[in-house]
Amino acid sequence: MNIHEYQAKALLRSYGVPVSDGRVVMRAEEAKTAAGELDGPLWVVKSQIHAGGRGKGKFKEPEAGEKGGVRLARSVEEASEFARQMLGRTLVTIQTGPAGKVVNRIYIEDGSDIERELYLAVLIDRSTSRISFVASTEGGMSIEDVAHETPEKILTFDIDPATGLSDFHGRRVAFALGLEGGQVKQCVQIVKKLYQLFVDKDMEMLEINPLVVLKDGNLKLLDAKMGFDSNALYRHADIAALRDETEEDPKELAASKFDLNYIALEGEIGCMVNGAGLAMATMDIIKLYGAEPANFLDVGGGATKEKVTEAFKIITSDPNVKGILVNIFGGIMRCDIIAEGVLTAVKEVGLKVPLVVRLEGTNVDLGKKIINESGLNVIAADNLSDAAQKIVKAVKG
Ligand code: GDP
Ligand code: MG
Repeated sequence: MNIHEYQAKALLRSYGVPVSDGRVVMRAEEAKTAAGELDGPLWVVKSQIHAGGRGKGKFKEPEAGEKGGVRLARSVEEASEFARQMLGRTLVTIQTGPAGKVVNRIYIEDGSDIERELYLAVLIDRSTSRISFVASTEGGMSIEDVAHETPEKILTFDIDPATGLSDFHGRRVAFALGLEGGQVKQCVQIVKKLYQLFVDKDMEMLEINPLVVLKDGNLKLLDAKMGFDSNALYRHADIAALRDETEEDPKELAASKFDLNYIALEGEIGCMVNGAGLAMATMDIIKLYGAEPANFLDVGGGATKEKVTEAFKIITSDPNVKGILVNIFGGIMRCDIIAEGVLTAVKEVGLKVPLVVRLEGTNVDLGKKIINESGLNVIAADNLSDAAQKIVKAVKG
């Protein structure tokens, strides 16, 4: 789960990490008062969406003006005017995709005088199963571009969980970033606190871009992106409360309410599968036969008929879906439960696209019988490859 920049900064502030003073506003009328509470003479007016690249982004509506999603203002009036222009408008950045995201919240910050922009991130490195730091002197730009063009400007290292983090790690970051004197001490403190916050809150990713050296020589975090491990949210009620459902794919949101492992994708073939590995294999084989999956979905081992029904409804609610492939290898999951769930869902929402069902395993005969006697126009398949070919053919002709 991701949170907004202003929420991330509140967490950072509570851990004693240096961030600017700021106010969040939801309505244009609040902007002037909010900006007036900050010192100036520079204000930063920042669109709050769960995507990066806002500064270089563009709004779809001409009323939002020519500037991007992060704007520098020289007066309270200008700051509130920028907030008014951006609220309710659609911001398109390299991370939002062409559809963009509607800006429902604005964060107004006391502006900083920047000397240098740096990059610092903490994340889980899946290849080493450890928490990893990434630091670079090239702040303010996409780290993917830096990695591509000047990989020597990136420092990465892992933290051994047995020994944890020590001051030495912070100094390593400081020297890689070209910091000197008192800045090194500040950097050691920042690195320590970011690590602590990361571990305390079960984060997946914490990206500070930019971390800046101010004109007065001090360090400050000017942008923050945070992602949390959804499987650990049950033990962080404070973090779960920060969820902004308007930022999430409605299909994924519905799926999460029914505890389904669902990820929306861009293709045309909806998939209902049990087991994450089989779901991955199903997506692969759909691609092998020339089509694209519309989603990843693992209904899990202990799914009920209700859960399967909801899953099927979510798949059919996707306008991109031109065909559905149900691929169940019933071990713990019973094929008759799947069959009943599919039938209930079809009765409720109808079926306007071809459906291929491949059932195997526990109660397979009963499952097939339920489907065959349903009167539904289902294409039966015998194995994975047969099923994939049949659905691709049904969709593509
Ligand atoms: P992003 O484009 O979504 O990554 O948003 P950022 O919060 O990183 O802001 C984009 C850019 O705006 C930064 O890289 C800075 O160059 C600039 N910026 C942000 N905050 C300030 C500030 O307080 N003062 C100044 N002068 N520039 C800022
Ligand atoms: Mg940034």
